Amino acid sequence: MQNDTFEGNVDQQEIEKFSAMAEQWWDLEGDFKPLHLLNPTRLDYIEVGVEGLFGKKIVDVGCGGGILAESMALRGAEVTGIDMAHASLQIARLHALETASEMTLQKPNYEKTTAESFAQAHAGEFDVVTCMEMLEHVPNPASVIQACCDLVKPGGTVYFSTINKTWKAYLMMIVGAEHVLKWVPKGTHEYEKFIRPSQLLGAIDATQLKCDDLCGVEYSPFNNDFKITKNVDVNYMLKCTKVG
Ligand code: SAH
Repeated sequence: MQNDTFEGNVDQQEIEKFSAMAEQWWDLEGDFKPLHLLNPTRLDYIEVGVEGLFGKKIVDVGCGGGILAESMALRGAEVTGIDMAHASLQIARLHALETASEMTLQKPNYEKTTAESFAQAHAGEFDVVTCMEMLEHVPNPASVIQACCDLVKPGGTVYFSTINKTWKAYLMMIVGAEHVLKWVPKGTHEYEKFIRPSQLLGAIDATQLKCDDLCGVEYSPFNNDFKITKNVDVNYMLKCTKVG
């Protein structure tokens, strides 16, 4: 394990929260059910945006139990997943063993580190960086955004997804998902940490990243899946390219 000098941008309570939920990562009806429902939609969005995942070198920042990382590896990408929750990484590694026989090229590699520390060691090495549903869990999202920019090659692609800071997001993500539907444990999200697209775009503008696309991701109760829409009121994704 490398000695991480960027632990200042880690909220230990968040890491403990995710560690305590780690055994649920691959339970399709468990605490991470929304991420499983969302995954096919974001995976396709990423694959189309980078014109194919096969052979792409990707780092998934805040990978958790590997839902996205593993699905990208299954489509032929060379994926490294990083996270600060050891228990989640262990689950990710175990699950990758189960699906190893279906891997087109190789199973993902998982490492316990922060985006900032990993970027110091691996600057400019990746074709694609994904950082999904993670920025709303760190003390300083701008520092993670800068690290994601550092990790990607010039001309490479970075994806972010997070939750908007609106009353609708409060109602759906906290009141609805945590208290009414009980889809995710109470306290999974904190309204104060939600991020407006304008804030995220401001932080992106301070780097060499240029935003190419901003889209909403909306739950459709009739189909029990997520669709890409123009409505960024609650969940949204961004696609960026590194200039230079
Ligand atoms: N990106 C995954 C998991 C999202 S949950 C997905 O969308 O499927 C948020 C994840 O971010 C958790 O696994 C948590 O442990 C991780 N995380 C939170 N703060 C972090 C930090 N500072 N560095 C790395 N990972 C972090």
